[in-house]
Amino acid sequence: MKLVTRAQWGARAYRTPSGATPYGRARKGVKVHYLGSAYSDRTHDKCAAYVRSLQNSHMDGNGWSDIGYSFVVCTHGYSFEGRGLKRRNSANGNTSLNDQDYAVCALVGSSGLTQPTDPQLNGIRDTIEYCREKGPAGDWLGGHRDGYATTCPGGPLYAWVKKGAPRPNGSTTPEEEDPMAAITKTDIFNAVWKTDGIPAPSDADDVKTNVNWQALSVLRDIQARVRANTQTEAAQSAAIAKLAQLVGSDVDTAAVVAAVEKAIKDAVVKVDVDINGPAA
Ligand SMILES: [Zn+2]
Ligand SMILES: [Zn+2]
Repeated sequence: MKLVTRAQWGARAYRTPSGATPYGRARKGVKVHYLGSAYSDRTHDKCAAYVRSLQNSHMDGNGWSDIGYSFVVCTHGYSFEGRGLKRRNSANGNTSLNDQDYAVCALVGSSGLTQPTDPQLNGIRDTIEYCREKGPAGDWLGGHRDGYATTCPGGPLYAWVKKGAPRPNGSTTPEEEDPMAAITKTDIFNAVWKTDGIPAPSDADDVKTNVNWQALSVLRDIQARVRANTQTEAAQSAAIAKLAQLVGSDVDTAAVVAAVEKAIKDAVVKVDVDINGPAA
């Protein structure tokens, strides 16, 4: 995500206490907005000044304590931090709606530039995912007009939002791709199972749904943990033995080592149980 922090775009300080109001509950999701006025595209070196003018109009014209939106996404795909993840926005129509969802505004007009650009759609998508992961926000997604009487965010953006805000054709991101899609069972066998000495499953089912294969995945994970435990056991035994020696003659070195070794052994036995499953 191409985040532009408030310091980077030269935001004014917000007014307190209102501008510092935190969200009162978990966000349900994200609402997408547009400017609702004429907008002409410009080069990116002019975008920060535009966002500053937006903040000025919200603070001086509307009398708000800060820019209203949580984030503002320019046509070049940069996401300008408005009220951000923690401070309640003032753009969704009323206090309850502001508290309910984040407000992400695209620099798209009701005249002039009315179609979002592909980099912008990617930038909005980045911002939605950022809100979900870092806010956090739930996966609800809509427009300003959902639940409030407005035409915002305009036809083109709203149609895109209602399709689930997909990334434009031709763009790829790790989130979009299924990393398993191009991997065959033979690839996995050669790369993993063969190396670990685990037999391949006997039938030809899909690797992602074959229950035997899934069970072997669990086994392989447990084996890795046991190997790690064995190393840890040796290291801990040596460390405890050394410690006991250093403490002095009042300490029963053998008893300390035995007690620690028993604790480690118990832990390893527990891992064995995990491997074999619960007793039938
Ligand atoms: Zn709006
Ligand atoms: Zn820009």
